[in-house]
Amino acid sequence: MTGEKMKFIDEYRDASAVRTYADKIAEITTRPWNIMEICGGQTHAIMRFGIDQLLPPEITLIHGPGCPVCVTPVEILDKAIEIAGRDDVIFCSFGDMLRVPGSRKDLLTVKAEGGDIRTVYSPMDTLKIAIESPDKQVVFFAVGFETTAPSTAATILQAHRRKLTNLSMLVAHVLVIPAMEAILSSPDNRVQGFLAAGHVCTVTGYAVYEKLVDKYEIPIVVTGFEPLDLAQGIYLCVRQLEKGASLVENQYARAVKRDGNQPALQTVNRVFEETDRRWRGIGLIPQSGLKLRGEFAEFDAENRFEPANQVTHESTGCISGQILQGAKKPYECPAFGKRCTPEHPLGATMVSSEGACAAYYLYRKP
Ligand code: SF4
Repeated sequence: MTGEKMKFIDEYRDASAVRTYADKIAEITTRPWNIMEICGGQTHAIMRFGIDQLLPPEITLIHGPGCPVCVTPVEILDKAIEIAGRDDVIFCSFGDMLRVPGSRKDLLTVKAEGGDIRTVYSPMDTLKIAIESPDKQVVFFAVGFETTAPSTAATILQAHRRKLTNLSMLVAHVLVIPAMEAILSSPDNRVQGFLAAGHVCTVTGYAVYEKLVDKYEIPIVVTGFEPLDLAQGIYLCVRQLEKGASLVENQYARAVKRDGNQPALQTVNRVFEETDRRWRGIGLIPQSGLKLRGEFAEFDAENRFEPANQVTHESTGCISGQILQGAKKPYECPAFGKRCTPEHPLGATMVSSEGACAAYYLYRKP
């Protein structure tokens, strides 16, 4: 939709083009609709560029659980904290995870206490660290959706090939579609249309949503992250809702193909299999996570270190579970902007660069 003719980011941020789509949405809207953007990156773009404020009052955007840092369960985070505190471990993680509160402390506190915790930008960085540090155990905290799982899988294949015995992964990868299905099958569901996460779909493709569309008769529009992408995605979704249609549409055609990235998917399938997974604030979602196949069990940090299952504790008063399911907005939390800020977060949704609470704090602070 946003045309292969465009070359520069500014063109996707052209305010007049975005307003044109906002006007088109207003023209076709005849009644209230609830649309969920699944991805936290989209939530931040909507807040940052004020897309929600351009829409007619009938359109409500509901922010979904597509922030991997936010949904990583506290029991896995507590295990990460335990492993990271060991003397023989170099613990590697994406930066966002370091400040997420565990039951008793966060990873940044472990680092302050002397733990060797390193921020990496790709799991592949951990290969180099493991090769250069043969007397240490290197552990990568593998967090993320379908978007990051291929690079974790490729790293494990490399480690396997090189017969590295000092690299392992604490795996917390989650899958988008089971989460969407959990939302749709909930008796409290309010979502009538989805903006699917464009970057996830660069890996999965969009054909994978066809079953969901058929089963729940709901429009799903694969959507990008720039203001014009979002305005177009919402327009396509409202157009379907007004017509009573339920189709998968691809707004993000410049990056997403019907069948996705097959080499990436094959790499993930070679290394991982689906498993039930708890989502922080939401609970267990069947077959919504990835675990290492038996062949690669030697790279599983849980097997290698056997961290204890601890009694978990979460901040009372944090309603991030309701926010992640779209039931409440961040400003409805009594702690928002008072007891809970990005400097002193009570919940993961205030820490992550994709968290809804952080988005509202940054762009809509009361
Ligand atoms: S504002 Fe803070 S306490 Fe409230 S839901 Fe968000 S993260 Fe939790």
